[in-house]
Amino acid sequence: MIVIFFGPPGAGKGTQASRISEVLEVPQIATGDIFRGKSKENSQLGRKVKGFMEKGQLIPDEIVNEVVRERISKRDCKKGFILDGYPRTIDQAIYLDKALKDMGKEITAVIYLEVNEDEIVKRLSYRRTCNKCGAIYHLIFNPPRVSKVCDRCGGKLYQRKDDREEVIRERIGVYKEKTEPLLRFYHERGKLFKVNGNREIDDVAKEIMDILETVKKGDV
Ligand code: ADP
Ligand code: AMP
Repeated sequence: MIVIFFGPPGAGKGTQASRISEVLEVPQIATGDIFRGKSKENSQLGRKVKGFMEKGQLIPDEIVNEVVRERISKRDCKKGFILDGYPRTIDQAIYLDKALKDMGKEITAVIYLEVNEDEIVKRLSYRRTCNKCGAIYHLIFNPPRVSKVCDRCGGKLYQRKDDREEVIRERIGVYKEKTEPLLRFYHERGKLFKVNGNREIDDVAKEIMDILETVKKGDV
C-alpha cells in the first residue's frame, strides 16, 4: 500500500498518518520531520533548509525529491509506505510517479483531508510537538496527559517556529498557490479520496480505514 496524505497545513495529516501507519504496519514518511531533523545539523544543507522552513516556504523540489527517493528505496518500504507532506508541487508529483514506475510500483490512494481555514489556524496555533519522537498534540483538542510531556516517550513538547500566526498565514498561501493544484492532478488519475477532516480525530481515522479497505478489495 502506498498512501499519500494530502491537505493544507494543520489538516491532520501527521496525526492520521501516524495512526494508519501503525494499523497497516508500514512506515510513515513525513518530509517535514525529515527536514526538521536536517535543519538542526550544522551543515550547508541544514542551514539552507532551515531558512525555508522558518519562513514557511517550500524547500526546492530537487532537494526534497532526492531525499524521498532515497527513503522509499529502503528495505522497510517494500510492503508499502505512507507519505505525509509529500508531494507538495506538481513537479514533485511527476517525479514521484516516475520514481515509483521505475520501482514497479504505483500509488494506492491519495487521502485529501479537507478542513476549513479558521479551523486550520486554531489547530496550528495550539499544536505542540515532541522534540524526541515527533508525536503531535493539541493543547485543547488532543492534550498530553502531563503538561508539556510526551505521553509516548516522555520527551519535551515544544511549539514549532513555523506554528506562529504570521508564518501560518504564509504557509496557507503557499499551499493554495503551489500544492492545491495537485488535487486536480490526482483526481484526473482516479486516485483522490476526499475526507471531511473537520471532525473528531477518531471519526476521521475510521473513514480513512474504510476507504483503504475498499480500495484494497478493489471495489473502486
Ligand atoms: P498536519 O500534519 O496536516 O500539518 P497535524 O496532524 O500536525 O496536521 O495536526 C495539526 C494540529 O491539529 C495538531 O495540534 C493536532 O493535534 C490537531 N488535530 C489533528 N486532527 C484533529 C482533529 N480531527 N480535530 C482536532 N484537532 C486535530
Ligand atoms: P510540515 O511538517 O509538513 O508542516 O512541513 C514543514 C516545512 O517543511 C514546510 O513548510 C516546508 O518548508 C518543508 N517541507 C516539508 N515537506 C516539503 C515538501 N514536500 N516540499 C517542500 N518543502 C517541504
